[in-house]
Order: sequence, then structure tokens, then C-alpha cells
Amino acid sequence: MTTDRTNTRGWTRRQAVTASLATAGAAALGSRALAAGDSAAGGGGDLGELAQRIQGRFLTRASSGYDDARKVWNQAYDRRPLAMARCADFDDVRRCLEFASRHALPVAIRGGGHSYAGFGVAEGALQIDLGAFNSVRVDRDRRVASVGGGAKIRDLLTATLAAGLTTPMGACGAVGVAGLALAGGDTAARGLFGTACDNILGAQIVTADGEVLELGPHQNTDLFWAIRGGGGNFGVVTRLDFRLHPVLALHNVAFDLGWNDIGGAMRTFGDLVRDAPDAVRAGFEVSAESGASATCGYYGDPAAAAAYLKTWTAAFPRAEAKTFTSMPNPQGEVWETTSVAVDGAFLEGLSDGVADVLARAAAAGRGFGDFEMGLSSGVAARVGMTDTAYPLRGRGLSLLLSSEWRRPEDRARSEHWVAEYGAALRPWARRAYVNYLAPSSPERIREIYGVNYPRLARIKARYDPANLFRSNQNIPPASAA
Ligand SMILES: Cc1cc2nc3c(=O)[nH]c(=O)nc-3n(C[C@H](O)[C@H](O)[C@H](O)COP(=O)(O)OP(=O)(O)OC[C@H]3O[C@@H](n4cnc5c(N)ncnc54)[C@H](O)[C@@H]3O)c2cc1C
Repeated sequence: MTTDRTNTRGWTRRQAVTASLATAGAAALGSRALAAGDSAAGGGGDLGELAQRIQGRFLTRASSGYDDARKVWNQAYDRRPLAMARCADFDDVRRCLEFASRHALPVAIRGGGHSYAGFGVAEGALQIDLGAFNSVRVDRDRRVASVGGGAKIRDLLTATLAAGLTTPMGACGAVGVAGLALAGGDTAARGLFGTACDNILGAQIVTADGEVLELGPHQNTDLFWAIRGGGGNFGVVTRLDFRLHPVLALHNVAFDLGWNDIGGAMRTFGDLVRDAPDAVRAGFEVSAESGASATCGYYGDPAAAAAYLKTWTAAFPRAEAKTFTSMPNPQGEVWETTSVAVDGAFLEGLSDGVADVLARAAAAGRGFGDFEMGLSSGVAARVGMTDTAYPLRGRGLSLLLSSEWRRPEDRARSEHWVAEYGAALRPWARRAYVNYLAPSSPERIREIYGVNYPRLARIKARYDPANLFRSNQNIPPASAA
């Protein structure tokens, strides 16, 4: 066995690069600048006055650095906010919200800037950039990590791993912790420990009216329920507390399966994961360049892992079984900033119908279309559907269809492929992970949240009746729904 220290997806074909590109936007907020002409810009009232009151950095359309600062990871979204405030503290957040309420301005919350839908920036909005809220405090004895609302996965895991502990997170160290966890989380080790939102023990939020609230199992319980899956709909989350777990080695086997009989390979994968134990992490991927691959990891005991992984080796007899052991790595794989179209589906299984659609997607998308699906099982699957807002309960496979383009003329092809095969899967998958979608219609969001939707819409009406927080997979307030 080799030892591979890439985190969760040793797993993906994507290139790991430095974080510099992905974070360039936030870094460029370094110059506080406000041109006189920004006063009353865009009908948004006296921006100049707001700029004077904000302790952090403030940029408007006339500021130098504005164009760099508004960039987000997904370059498909080229949006021009009215202003961007890199809030230094609660008071800055409250001042921005008070200003936005007074002028009925939409608010865009920027954490790690990695939304596939580009939600960290919005046309004509006031952006609240939480880059300065990046502290992490680890209480090793209580096994709790408290992180600021703008912390990235690598900030969180660097601190927890130093204490010999970890918590389920995503694969890319540059992704925002809150942006991921508030939407639920497609994470490693969820079979053993639940997904990211299942490990939120408490939180602090600034609501649309500027109130700072503590959330937990006994405090503001409606909001505490809603933020575990409902995304950034309810306010600016300034702190999250996560339950921590022991660090376990992940013993993996990976198979490169190429382009032959992808449908058959998927059916084999579907059979293998149907009864996989909680300690298993499994993924199936089709890369536009190299075709299919399957990976299975088993957490913990090496002997139990070796015995279990033999079933996988036997199931893919024609492919070389590559074995390696991985440990959590805070950086994970930082993926190069790009332009990408996405769609998602939460599949309850790999029926023949699903395998056929995906085999056709692989053939049609060869050269430009990728998909990957990860097993959601165990603890994450067993949480009750209405226990949190996150609706992806029960065993399933969370699928991400993605297609990148470099030349503007290829955009339509990518968007078409993703939309066509996303729609073709809909008969088998009414649900999807909201962070794997392009900006979506209210009908789709309502369908995804299902039984939890009415409660979410009522909580939204109570805490954000004017829908200031709508740069997200939006849940309109109940009265307007
Ligand atoms: C390269 C890459 C890898 C990814 N890997 C994974 C993965 O392994 N697992 C997974 O689950 N997801 C993954 N994702 C998806 C990721 O979870 C979402 O894109 C998420 O929205 C990113 O959060 P962010 O803070 O970086 O983004 P941003 O664009 O900064 O924020 C997106 C939205 O999240 C909400 N938000 C963020 N912070 C706060 C806050 N403090 N308070 C309130 N609302 C907030 C807001 O609505 C905001 O507009 C990946 C995305 C990319 C681009």
C-alpha cells in the first residue's frame, strides 16, 4: 500500500493548484477606497456615509480594485455589486444590514467565494464579505471547534488536526466552511459521523434586522433547525460550533475503468454500495478526458478494511486495483478557478434507468462533461427527514454534473449538456444537494426541500420578511411564497 496524503478525493481528476487565484478577489479588498461619485449610487442611498461608518474595507464601482474584488471562483458569473464591505466585526455587519434594509437592497454574503452558482456576489447588491471572520478556536477537551463565518475548510482543519481531531468537511481547502455546512455538506466520513450540518452544535447569526442571536438545541430552535440545510437564507452566520471526532486513516482502493461499458460499471458500483457499512466512503466518477473510475475507502481498522475491500477488487476483475491510505489534509485539493456549469441529483440507487442516462451522458460529454457521485449513508442517512432542514436523508448517491469551458463559444455546449442530463435524471431524483445547482427556480427549491419547505418559508418570513438574503437557493418568505 502506498500512503497518499491528499485528503478526501485522491478521488478526483482535478488539478490541485495554489489557492492564489481562488482567493484573489478577497485579497484585492485590501484598499479602502470610495470615490465621491459613489454617493447615492444606483439609487442605493448614501453609500459614502456607510463607507465612513464601516471599520473594514469598502469598495464601490468607482473604487480601484473593484473589478478584482468582485471575482468569484466560478468565472461564469460576472456580476457587479453596488458595493462590497469586508466587515471587520459585528457592528460592520449590522451597519450593512441596516443600510440594506433602509434602501431595500439585496445582500450577497461572501464566505469562501466558491459557490458554483456564484452567490457570493450579486448584481446591484451590497456584498457582506466575511473574509475577516476567519478565526478558529478548538476546545480539545469538549471536542468542539468554533469557527468564524468566513473561515475556510483549511483554516478549520489545520486547527483541529493540530489537536488530533477532525470533523466532516468537503474536499477543497479553499471552500468556505459556512457556505458548505449551512447547505448540508457532501462530506467525507458522513457514514460514521454525519454530514457537516449534523455536526453543528451551535451558531451565532445576525438577522436582517441587525439582531445578534445565539442558536442551539435550546436557543432560537427554529433558526437552529433552519440553518442546518437551509443555506444563507436566514442571516449572516458569524460563528459555527462543530462537534469534533477522532482522526481515522482511510484505506482505499481505486479502479480506472476507462470508456468501455460505463453503464455496466455503474451497475456494479450500485450493487457494491447498496449495503456498504457505515465505515465506507465510495465514489464513482466519469472524467471528460479519461472516462470512468471507482473508488472505495474504509475508515479505521486496516484488517477490516482489507477484508472488505476484497469484495471491490473481485467486482472489477479487469481493472488494476490501486490501493493507498489517506489521512485528512487541511488543504485538500484546491481546484483552479474556472467557468463551469453544474447540476445535481440525489439518487436513491443506481437503477438500470439511471445507469442508462448516465452512460449516455458520459458518451455525449466526452471531452467536456464530467460527473461524480458519492455515497451518502450511515449516520447521515439515518437522521430523520424533519430533524434538520437538510433534505437528503436516507441512503443515496449525491451526483454532481459539471462541464467547464475555456472559450466563450463553448459555454452553450456545456450548459446544454448539464441541463439535458440533469433533466433526464429528474424522474429518479426529485432531490439534489442545493450547493450543486445553478441558481434555481422556486419550484425546484420547493421540491428539493419537500416536507421541510413550509417550515423553512415560515421561518424565513419571521426573520427575513423582505427577503434581503436572496443571493442563494432562495426560500421566499411564506407570505410571498
Ligand atoms: C472547487 C469546489 C469544491 C467543492 N467541494 C465540495 C465538497 O467536497 N463538498 C460540498 O459539500 N460542497 C463542495 N463544494 C460546494 C460548496 O459547498 C459550495 O459552493 C459553497 O456554497 C461554497 O461556500 P463558500 O463560502 O466558499 O462560497 P461563497 O460564494 O462565499 O458563499 C456562497 C453562499 O453561501 C452562503 N454563505 C456563505 N457563508 C455564509 C455565512 N457565514 N452566513 C450565511 N450564509 C453564508 C451565502 O448564501 C453565500 O452567498 C465545492 C465547490 C467548489 C467550487
